[in-house]
Amino acid sequence: MGNEGRPGAGPQRQSPVAASNPIGYSNAAWLGPVDVASFTSWIKRHPQGNFAIKVRSRGPCPRCLHETQGEDWLWELEGFVAASDDTDVIADIEQELLNRYDHGERPPAVYVNRMVCSCDQPHAPDKEGCGARWDLSVVPRP
Ligand SMILES: [Zn+2]
Ligand SMILES: [Zn+2]
Repeated sequence: MGNEGRPGAGPQRQSPVAASNPIGYSNAAWLGPVDVASFTSWIKRHPQGNFAIKVRSRGPCPRCLHETQGEDWLWELEGFVAASDDTDVIADIEQELLNRYDHGERPPAVYVNRMVCSCDQPHAPDKEGCGARWDLSVVPRP
């Protein structure tokens, strides 16, 4: 009646380091739960038109739990480098959105903030964040 375990399994050793190892980098959609209530979101409005153009959210990454944030345009921007920080590009986009707004186009009723973890903790060399991606649906307050 000895407890021999499975052949070849060998002695199970608990590694005390394993629990504190950082989560590795994994470029993948996060399929687990997202605690939406732990995020704070802001809406950026058009400087002239005063309609919503961007959503920004901050909160804990659902995968690595580190604080992260993300920003997204609320409008489809085909033909633009939407992720650009270039002020000329942003000015072009804002002008385009103003034209579209003047032609009756409106931002969506629910704002989807496509998040990519960009926490400041190291998960892999030369990588930002842990690689998790998830969507936050932000319903604007009336
Ligand atoms: Zn992290
Ligand atoms: Zn993360």
